[in-house]
Amino acid sequence: MSPTENGLARLLAQRIAAGGPVSVAEFMAEALSHPEFGYYMGKDPLGVAGDFTTAPEISQMFGELIGLWCANAWLALGKPTPFILVELGPGRGTLMTDALRALETVPACRAAVHVHLVEHSPFLRERQRQALSGVDVTWHDAVNDLPMLPAIFIANEFFDALPIEQFVCRDDGWHRRLVGLLPEDSDGAPGFVFTHAPAPASPEELPGSAVPSAETGAIIESSPVARQIAVEMARRIRSHTGAALIVDYGYAGPAIGDTLQAVHRHAYAPVLERPGEADLTAHVDFSALAQAARSVGADCWGPLPQGEFLRRLGIETRAGALAAAATAGQTTDIERALTRLIGDDQMGTLFKVLAIGPRAAAPPAGFLPEDANIQ
Ligand code: SAH
Repeated sequence: MSPTENGLARLLAQRIAAGGPVSVAEFMAEALSHPEFGYYMGKDPLGVAGDFTTAPEISQMFGELIGLWCANAWLALGKPTPFILVELGPGRGTLMTDALRALETVPACRAAVHVHLVEHSPFLRERQRQALSGVDVTWHDAVNDLPMLPAIFIANEFFDALPIEQFVCRDDGWHRRLVGLLPEDSDGAPGFVFTHAPAPASPEELPGSAVPSAETGAIIESSPVARQIAVEMARRIRSHTGAALIVDYGYAGPAIGDTLQAVHRHAYAPVLERPGEADLTAHVDFSALAQAARSVGADCWGPLPQGEFLRRLGIETRAGALAAAATAGQTTDIERALTRLIGDDQMGTLFKVLAIGPRAAAPPAGFLPEDANIQ
């Protein structure tokens, strides 16, 4: 690995030199969220000029359908008034803008809603403020800080950005994977290398679900932070009613494999190089989130493939309606966006949708009774 010369690399190198290797979660948390050097803190990572493009940035149809999903959930919950519409990691505020426009079709719902955003980046909070000008918005650092009210949560490409722990299979068990230091190169620039804890991890430290048997060198992952957020949402849904919709790329576990990846300018990059400059993400373990939500008394539906979910919500009809009022060039754009969102070789299968709701409620829009509580 080539040496890394940036401010965060220096800080991490000092920490490792003083206290020994850090966990993958600690490295990832600093790379993404360090107040000064963290990836999200000082820039807009989205769009063609950034590092990656998300579903709401591809087409207004995505946020509109999620807005209708929220209105439907609100009606099914018995029209709780007031209620909070919470988005976790709202990026540029595009999804929320499109969702609120769709919510206008149910005026009582639009009148009852208070928008709360959970966002750690001051820079992106400013983008959201601009996108949502005229809307009464409250920002929070964490889900725990939200007011205790009926809540509908939405999270698109939020959970993949949360730190994960990794464990490596050795002859004597699973060892926590760590990040250590390479010897300094001739320029004195630090470089990082994967290593592992000397002793095996105890069973409580490993991912909640049964760990499959594996070969030496195999890797498993878990995200305690993600599970804790799922628990917090589910507790609130249980005590004050509500619903949650989580959309992300991921799998229904248990799974073996290293999904930690770095993306810089729409291409994969080495994960330990230049921390804070590339986006670091991991695939979401939907089974772990569902299990966490169920453990505190909520029900779950899915995960469904995104393509299937959006089709069930009527995305093809919506695309047809938009195309009917569009120019030929715009129609091509609409068709292209539709294919990106639902195509099996695009976002349609890799991306998945999980819903959380009160125990024994009817399935939320887009889900069928047989989608309930998949293990
Ligand atoms: N949902 C948006 C943006 C996805 S990018 C979209 O679909 O376009 C991830 C978003 O989550 C960014 O807004 C980022 O700043 C935010 N985020 C990532 N980790 C976070 C954390 N630990 N706490 C709060 N917000 C976080």
